[in-house]
Amino acid sequence: MKLRVPQFYVHLVLMAMVTFGTCFLYQSTIGKEREGWHKGLPKQYNSIWLVHDDNRPKPPYVKTGKKVTDAPSDAIVLFDGTDLSNWVGKWNVKDGYMEVNHTGGIRTKGEFGDCQLHLEYRSPTPVQRKSQARGNSGIMLMKRYEIQVLDNYENESYADGYMGAVYGQHPPMVNACKPPGEWQTYDIIFRRPRFDENKKLVEPARVTVMINGVVVQHNAEIYGRVTYRGLAKYQWHDDEEPIVLQDHGDRQNPRFRNIWIRKLDLSHEALDNRPKK
Ligand code: MG
Repeated sequence: MKLRVPQFYVHLVLMAMVTFGTCFLYQSTIGKEREGWHKGLPKQYNSIWLVHDDNRPKPPYVKTGKKVTDAPSDAIVLFDGTDLSNWVGKWNVKDGYMEVNHTGGIRTKGEFGDCQLHLEYRSPTPVQRKSQARGNSGIMLMKRYEIQVLDNYENESYADGYMGAVYGQHPPMVNACKPPGEWQTYDIIFRRPRFDENKKLVEPARVTVMINGVVVQHNAEIYGRVTYRGLAKYQWHDDEEPIVLQDHGDRQNPRFRNIWIRKLDLSHEALDNRPKK
């Protein structure tokens, strides 16, 4: 008896053979190309590395949180809602947040320079007072460069004092404030100022700020230590300093929670010429 193979199966087998063969040839070709991959590649601008240099250090793996507001694996958690063990100060802690209580500002025990900082802020309810006297606090990077914390929801003030301002210097691009009583996010990327060996300023500090996921500062130049009714100036300081949260003393109680920081190295050497470990 003659065995009859349905034509459909013959076609199926032929298609599988063609597909497999094509993949095999493709892989072989890629493999051959990779052998000479680095030959003739130019040196990257401002770098010790070639374009596509396979010897260039690979980005280290960071395990991200479930939510973008969760601390990633390489972050230092400054406040997880339980206590002020990473801070010097006497603010109240309850129900997962810390609260201004008019005992003065608080500062981190740790010291930081270039960094990525996340924190969450809740402006006080019921709403009281207006302009700069409503829910005012501040994130003092290196104890002296203030990113303004303020309830600007239906609350006008002078532009360079708005929520997300580099206080007294740069207004935020937009007012991204949520209504009082809602938790709001601050995400800050800060590059510290650079001083030379004679303690002279070489490069000013720069900052990028997002409020509730909205960019309000992009690589803004910081003109110097925060000032009120005056022009900011630089004075030499160490490469790392504590972060201070401000008690503005308005008999209101701004709250903070979920504070974490990642130390960064934003030097040109690190970004362009990071040597192989
Ligand atoms: Mg302030």
